[in-house]
Parts: sequence; C-alpha cells; structure tokens
Amino acid sequence: MPLRILVTGASIAGNTAALWLGRHGHDVEVVERAPAFRDGGQNIDVRGVGREVLRRMGLEQAALDRGTGELGTAWVDDRGRVAARFVTDATTGDGPTAEMEILRGDLARLLRDAAEPVVRYRFGDRVAAVAEEADGARVRFASGRSASYDAVLVAEGVGSATRDLVFPGGNDPRWMDLTIAYFTIPRVADDDRYWRWYNAPGGRSVSLRPDRHGTARAMLSVRRPPGGEQNWPVERQKAWLRDLFADAGWQAPRVLAGMDDTPDFYLDVLRQVRMTRWSRGRVALIGDAAWCATPLAGIGTTLAVAGGFVAAGELARCGGDVGAGLAAFERAMRPMVEDGQGVPKIGPRLMNPDSRPGIRLLHAALNVAARPAVRGLAARLFSREPRAPDLSVYADPSRPA
Ligand SMILES: Cc1cc2nc3c(=O)[nH]c(=O)nc-3n(C[C@H](O)[C@H](O)[C@H](O)COP(=O)(O)OP(=O)(O)OC[C@H]3O[C@@H](n4cnc5c(N)ncnc54)[C@H](O)[C@@H]3O)c2cc1C
Repeated sequence: MPLRILVTGASIAGNTAALWLGRHGHDVEVVERAPAFRDGGQNIDVRGVGREVLRRMGLEQAALDRGTGELGTAWVDDRGRVAARFVTDATTGDGPTAEMEILRGDLARLLRDAAEPVVRYRFGDRVAAVAEEADGARVRFASGRSASYDAVLVAEGVGSATRDLVFPGGNDPRWMDLTIAYFTIPRVADDDRYWRWYNAPGGRSVSLRPDRHGTARAMLSVRRPPGGEQNWPVERQKAWLRDLFADAGWQAPRVLAGMDDTPDFYLDVLRQVRMTRWSRGRVALIGDAAWCATPLAGIGTTLAVAGGFVAAGELARCGGDVGAGLAAFERAMRPMVEDGQGVPKIGPRLMNPDSRPGIRLLHAALNVAARPAVRGLAARLFSREPRAPDLSVYADPSRPA
C-alpha cells in the first residue's frame, strides 16, 4: 500500500527522501517555506556513504559534472601571498576541498529535478500545527489548508520551526562560537580556482571560492559567542558585518561591496542540533533539523543525503508500520551522526586566531601540514571515517526484487 507522506523543506535531505520515496511508489508531497525553490549556497562536499547514495540514485556523475572546479585551499596574507596551500589531488581528493565539491544549490536542484516526476511540490507554505490521530498525522498549514499523512518528514534545516512545534524544548543546541555569512559576488580577473582563506585579527576571516557560474563565492566568518544574530533581519546582519569587517584588510572592501547587491545572502550562527530522539508518532526529523553537525564537521551534506535515503528506505520496507520504520531509521543513523558531531570546539579557535602572532603561527603550522611528508596525515585528519549505515539492506525500486 502506498503511504501518504509529507516532507517539509526542499533542500538536500528533503529532496533526497522525497525522490526515493516517490520512486518507491509512495504518494509524496514536499512543502517548502520559501516562495520558490532556493538556489543559493556555497561549496559543500559529499563523501563516502553520501556518494554511494547518489550513485544508487543514478546522480553521481551528474553531481561530479556540476563540480565547482576548485583545485584546493590556499591560506593567504593581507597582500594575497600564499602562506600554505593544499592541492586536492595531492590529498587524494579528501582534503579541505573534497573531490565531489558542488554548490549546495546545484545539488539541491539536481535532486529536485530528479524527484519532480514522482513528487508534488508546494512552495510558500509551512506547517502550523500537527495532531496525531488514529489513522494519521493531521497537519494544518499556515495557508489554512489541512491534510492527513501516514508519515511526516521534517527536513527544515538547523532552525526548523516544525521541530520546535513537535518537540518543544527537545533541542539542546551546542553553540560553536562561530558565525559565517555566505554570498555570491562578481568574479574578477585575478580570482583563481583555489579556496583562498584570509585570517584577520579578532577571530575574523574572509574567503573566496570559485564556482562554475562565472561568479565568486564569498564567506565572512567571525569567532565570538552567539548573540542571536541568526534571527536578525538580513539588513541588520549585513550592517553588522559591514562594521565588523571594515578594517579587516585583504579583499574585505570588495567582498563587503559585493554583499550589498548579492542575490543569495545566507548567515548561520553555528550550532549543533542535539536531540535525544528524532521521531514522535508519525513525525520524524531528518538532516540538519535532526542533527546539524555544522559546516565545521564537513559532513553535513553527506549526513543529509544518507539520512534522507535511509528514512525513505525504512519507510519503504516497514510494511505500513510507520513507527517501526522511523525507529529503524534512527537506529541506522545514530552512530554516523554521533561520529559526525564529534567536532572539537577548539577548531574555530585554532582556525580563527585573535592576534597577528596567532595568525603567523597558524600559517606556519599549515605550511608544515601541507608538505608531502605530512600531507597523508593531514588528509586523514580532514577526512574521518564515520560508522555509516549499511545501504545494501534497502531495495532499489528501479530493479526487480
Ligand atoms: C539557502 C541555503 C544556503 C546554504 N548555504 C550553505 C553553505 O554555503 N555552506 C554550508 O556548509 N551549508 C549551507 N547550507 C546548509 C546546508 O545545505 C545544510 O547544512 C546541509 O546540506 C543539510 O541540508 P538540509 O536539507 O538538512 O537542510 P537545509 O539545507 O538547511 O534546508 C532546509 C530547507 O527547509 C526549508 N525550510 C525551513 N523552514 C521551513 C518550514 N518551516 N517549512 C518548510 N520548509 C522550511 C528551507 O528554506 C530550506 O530549503 C545552506 C542552506 C540553505 C537553505
């Protein structure tokens, strides 16, 4: 019997789950809060089991074809001179720049386009209330519409409102004392194909990354305790960054000028989502809404892809017992999430020093780490092997059983 399934959030986790559930023949509706599909975002990478999911969906090559073409990472000083450089090939494709490096918007669109034939999308709406009833979860939307579903997958990202509605007080966030803003700016002739990372005193950094759209992806980050900045209106966030980075040096003036007209500003005060459980009744959290590990972990998109796939796989094989399927999903994903969230809080402090001597020390350490003799060790540090779920237990709907 096909299940009626609601997925909220049309990004990485939501589109992955919807695509796989739709291919299994379930009746899937995706509701996204934004008025239209969100294309924005920067370089994310998909590794290990995430790559395997894309392969099983027949999307791996398409994702590789849409790669950003980033060659590696270079730490630069205020005059743009390279202090340390990691080249992707030399670190077996798994350094700070991974081999499958794709823009978030490009990956989300790829998944959405693949899901569209088997899934219904609705934009500009969100969940206002959920009530558990004998034969389904009754959902009332902000638009006033109501419907019943056999299962609801909440894939709304780190700030999920439906999570806070269904699990009030359930999230015990771990703040990482780092705020990052991402946005697209015009490319200039001098931009190369490296991720250039510039540290400024005061725990600030400015970085620029290449893309395949003829633009450059800028990032401003600052290390400091959280102050609720994620909830400010965008104009206030931008004004705050303008003040903070006015004297930062290197390409800060260009990046700040580009920020004024950017089409896709996204700011995140980094925090991990910590939940003791991911489902209640017929409602389950997936992706960042359930377990955001933060970009510091370098595994968020891999977890979102794997989690969406496993949630869909368990619902497809639960024989109509949604509660059992969601419990199995949690058992399968917990170990990988625990490993993925194991980011030491010292990371932001080490990578964003306060003083000029601290920055010089960081550059010297990175320079040593980038040398061939220690590069293998550095690559192992950057790429951890989490305990991944066994994907072989999930049937492929495109193949006969
Ligand atoms: C526009 C954007 C840009 C990003 N840029 C970067 C980046 O540059 N670098 C990086 O490391 N990570 C970025 N991320 C986060 C990254 O995509 C995630 O950490 C990771 O891929 C996990 O994805 P997810 O699908 O679980 O959550 P997300 O990618 O955060 O997606 C959540 C989706 O749910 C939607 N949503 C939110 N609330 C509701 C609601 N109440 N009802 C319905 N829909 C809702 C959001 O609009 C979004 O489409 C970005 C996310 C977004 C949305």
